[in-house]
Amino acid sequence: MSDYRDLKQAIIDSCLRLQAMGYLVGTYGNASARMPGGLIVTPSRVDYAAITPDDMVIVSEEGRVIAGHRPPSSETSVHRMILNARPDIGAVFHTHSLYASALSCLHMTLPVIIEEQSQVIGAEIRCTSYVPAGQHQALGEEVARTLGESNGVLLANHGVVACGRTIEEAVFAAQVVERIAQMYLLTRAVGTPIPIPQHYVASERERWLYKYGTAADRAVPEET
Ligand code: 13P
Ligand code: ZN
Repeated sequence: MSDYRDLKQAIIDSCLRLQAMGYLVGTYGNASARMPGGLIVTPSRVDYAAITPDDMVIVSEEGRVIAGHRPPSSETSVHRMILNARPDIGAVFHTHSLYASALSCLHMTLPVIIEEQSQVIGAEIRCTSYVPAGQHQALGEEVARTLGESNGVLLANHGVVACGRTIEEAVFAAQVVERIAQMYLLTRAVGTPIPIPQHYVASERERWLYKYGTAADRAVPEET
């Protein structure tokens, strides 16, 4: 079996980027990517600066460790249940980014207020019910259920989960969730933000997924 070294390194590199941005505090946060029959996930409670591909853990769709010498993230169920429920998702990042974590303490649902939310997240960002730390299975079920068709969710009194088709998209989604949280707080300081109409949310998401940056989205006709 391939040992998926490049994929493991890509997850680690993305964690280091998010850590440099202040989204991962201490050993908090975790990340995964889909692989055939399961997922690759970060180990539990290992400093990001010290994680090597050999520390990464391979877990089956059913939740068994297939390879790796360290305990997988204590939140592996969150990653596994999302990947099982959403075939369109290829990578999942859990962060403790500041503004989104602050809103998670208010158990807030963030409506679609800015076009990067309609495009990258594709829906409102709901908040789970509180699940006490250590209730791994219950947290996985609650996060996957609350995420629904969105690509971002708040974990009550805890943090964020962001998803995408690829590692790059999931990292971007984590950044977008944090920006939305900041914008939400900014707008609420002076008024009530006006959501983007629901029918545009779907079409803007579709465009971002399949057209943005391609000839199908060309702004100016091609010279003939
Ligand atoms: P792990 O180190 O087990 O992945 O847990 C990190 C975390 O975010 C706990 O909430
Ligand atoms: Zn956490």
